[in-house]
Amino acid sequence: MNEERLIELLVSLHEGLDRLGPGNTASTLRALAMCEDLPSAPDVLDVGCGAGAQTLVLADHTHGSLVATDLFPVFLEKFAANLNKRGLTSRVQLLPADMNTLPFADSSFDLIWSEGAIYSMGFDEGLRRWRPLVRPGGYLVVSEASWFKPDPPDRLKSFWAGNYPAMRAVDDNLASAQDLGWTPVGHFHLPVDAWQTDYYQPLRERLPVFLETHEHAADAKAVAEMTELEMDLLSAYSDYYGYAFYVLHRPHGILSGGD
Ligand code: SAH
Repeated sequence: MNEERLIELLVSLHEGLDRLGPGNTASTLRALAMCEDLPSAPDVLDVGCGAGAQTLVLADHTHGSLVATDLFPVFLEKFAANLNKRGLTSRVQLLPADMNTLPFADSSFDLIWSEGAIYSMGFDEGLRRWRPLVRPGGYLVVSEASWFKPDPPDRLKSFWAGNYPAMRAVDDNLASAQDLGWTPVGHFHLPVDAWQTDYYQPLRERLPVFLETHEHAADAKAVAEMTELEMDLLSAYSDYYGYAFYVLHRPHGILSGGD
């Protein structure tokens, strides 16, 4: 299966879901609370917002304006319908955009947020490219699949070697953030429930519809099987890996300057 077809199938698999990655409201709020001294009406950017589950939480708990971006219009359409229902269209702007080439001027935001999405360009690359967009004194908050302990069983190691070889240990991500000019002010593990109940359960329920939609084509079956394996591995090995939130501060002052 080529890369383009794989992406097409993955987008189709996630169509209509509220969450396209692990996460829950409590964790979003826990990370937001670590962003001390934000302006009273911060400018917020959500990168890889998907259908906007976490953007809506941010909108409910901040008072500024928000821009939410994603590469795939089908997810933004679902988000737009929700915004309409919630009467939030004047505060939240939706913009199709590639996270590799975000169309914003330097120092546009007090807070950049990205849950379960930075992996598609790479943790370091995201931290490097998005940094100029954050005002000195502002924050970048990302959640990212991370190893929690060393020496995973072979089955697990080979799955992630095939699917996300760049996955690193939490401490390695924190060290890298520091090297890239960020000050980590907090990090925590996302509860496994926010992965299993909030993301995998609706995804599992969608698998039969997905297969039906693609008339049980061999490549769709392969995607469904890979998804089931991913879910089974988490049930078996959630002590070895999971999602972690990283709350990163762009320091004020001379050292934070226009690099
Ligand atoms: N934050 C959302 C979505 C996470 S899934 C949630 O937690 O529910 C990852 C998201 O990144 C998807 O919505 C996907 O469409 C988006 N994405 C993948 N590659 C992207 C890219 N290059 N630029 C922008 N968004 C991208």
